[in-house]
Amino acid sequence: MRVIAIDGPAGSGKSTVGRLLAERLGLTYLDTGAMYRAVAFAAIRGGVDPVDAGPVAQLAQRIDLQLGNGTVVVDGVDASVEIRGPEVSRAVSTVAANPDVRAEMRSRQRAWAAERGGGVIEGRDIGSVVFPDAVLKVYLTADPEVRAQRRAKEMTDLAYDSVAADLARRDAADQGRSHSPLVEAEDAVVLDTTGMGIEEVLDHLVALVEERSAAREESSG
Ligand code: C5P
Repeated sequence: MRVIAIDGPAGSGKSTVGRLLAERLGLTYLDTGAMYRAVAFAAIRGGVDPVDAGPVAQLAQRIDLQLGNGTVVVDGVDASVEIRGPEVSRAVSTVAANPDVRAEMRSRQRAWAAERGGGVIEGRDIGSVVFPDAVLKVYLTADPEVRAQRRAKEMTDLAYDSVAADLARRDAADQGRSHSPLVEAEDAVVLDTTGMGIEEVLDHLVALVEERSAAREESSG
């Protein structure tokens, strides 16, 4: 199985880099943040309070999740736009701190990769917890102002200040939680994309994947 793990804080460029890297390598791409967002969406829609750990965990175990190319369908309802909205963004870190929700998403992510022989998988705990044997672990980061600017550009109806505040709040929650917090995996390649263009980032990562894959083949005989 060939997994490329990409972790990092919100707005660090994980989705853009992940999608394009998958294209270049001929692998499938998985956005695990969209899975946690889908659980938050299902909770809000079902009138379940995101802090109610038991009911939210049951919901996570029960829901049908279909992740397409930029689309997310939750129990037959297209949630692609709504999962990016402010209401889900406010609730998602609470849902993601729930250990039973994490266990369920982790097993879904592993099953997804096993079915495909790997993929480019992006999130917060992918290299550190979900796929410790990934071929390459990347920890993407960038200055907070740059990350907020990138995100504000994607969300044309939201002001920079509210985007910056949301990112800061989510990063603190994701880094401070007790289960699978956002950390740099010990063996991750840390890449600060602040002054880097997308092509530069991609070229660098493709070279690293090729180098690692060759080394792995050699060591396995
Ligand atoms: O990547 P994105 O910003 O869409 O992720 C939304 C939220 O989902 C994060 O703020 C984090 O709380 C949670 N998440 C997580 N573990 C992952 C991916 C996302 O806890 N692997």
